[in-house]
Amino acid sequence: MADKRDYYEVLGVGKSASGDEIKKAYRQLARKYHPDVNKEADAETKFKEVKEAYDVLSDDGQRARYDQFGHVDPNQGMGGAGGFSGNGDFGGFGDIFDMFFGGNGGRRDPNAPQRGNDLQYSMTIEFKEAVFGKETEITIPRTESCDTCAGSGAKPGTKPETCSVCRGSGQQEVVQNTPFGRMVNRRACSNCSGTGKVIKEKCGTCHGAGKVKKQRKINVRIPAGVDDGAQIRLSGEGEGGLRGGPPGDLYIVIRVKAHDFFERENDDIYCEVPLTFVQAALGDEIEIPTLTEKVKLKIPAGTQTGTYFRLKGKGVPKLRGYGQGDQHVKVTIVTPTKLSDEQKDLLRQFGGIGGESPAENNEHHESIFEKMKKAFRGE
Ligand SMILES: [Zn+2]
Ligand SMILES: [Zn+2]
Repeated sequence: MADKRDYYEVLGVGKSASGDEIKKAYRQLARKYHPDVNKEADAETKFKEVKEAYDVLSDDGQRARYDQFGHVDPNQGMGGAGGFSGNGDFGGFGDIFDMFFGGNGGRRDPNAPQRGNDLQYSMTIEFKEAVFGKETEITIPRTESCDTCAGSGAKPGTKPETCSVCRGSGQQEVVQNTPFGRMVNRRACSNCSGTGKVIKEKCGTCHGAGKVKKQRKINVRIPAGVDDGAQIRLSGEGEGGLRGGPPGDLYIVIRVKAHDFFERENDDIYCEVPLTFVQAALGDEIEIPTLTEKVKLKIPAGTQTGTYFRLKGKGVPKLRGYGQGDQHVKVTIVTPTKLSDEQKDLLRQFGGIGGESPAENNEHHESIFEKMKKAFRGE
């Protein structure tokens, strides 16, 4: 256990941190690494580490022993000090949330209302749906309180009884003699799985769980202007709470499909249009598709490839506030690849009239040709 990190270090608090500071640090870190929220590979390991540090440091007795002796190999008699050792004394990740939201800190009353879990739903929408918004219906599988037994888990007409082993506390105390004296560890009661109640006759609908899986249809309004990765929170649309606890929230994560022609950067739209070199040289008026309509764009004579033109207000509506972004049009001059003999003749004539090098016809590119000449000279 030598490679174990210091518990104070894990929680990022000082050795003299108060109980409240420890609790606060723990809540922040536990939320950050909660495996329902954090999908990084090592999130669960970190979460367990944080939980273990908190379990020890939040208990005055254990903290005092830890301050004195540091980490002690659990095989030598401090078994379960971490509280996360997997023998059923920690009833799944969902349970931790009621500490955050139910707010009775540390030792949980097994019969207290429990807030439902948050849910996450990933929704892929079309490019233009993100621009203009969308109203849609989604089906979410989620657990809800069982209607038949009103969430108690007991057959209608019967009631869950207080567990005779733990007398309703949901916890069993296990006393161990260790080199440091008598240690009392608490773990979930094995008779009632930590609920404090025993159901003699189970509800036929939920089989004693007090909750059932349901497919719930929910209307979702995607606001105009959302971008890829946006998250929409639907308060109270997560999993149902237990024993009268509030439901969790539903988070919808938006994924936006790419568009063949338009590209988006924040509220601005980018696109690329081809020009013939005749249009670019002589100037022209061309039609450009925007998100809503076609608009005319004047191309001045002598336009270079790669030039951007801005169509003001033709971008994406701003999600917050008023107004819209712009559309930026990049023109690319396309060199013809299939020329008739007559066209070739005309171009040869053009080249003959036009002079020896393109640089002389083109102020814009002078510097580029100058640089190239230098490179030829080995500079
Ligand atoms: Zn019990
Ligand atoms: Zn039921």
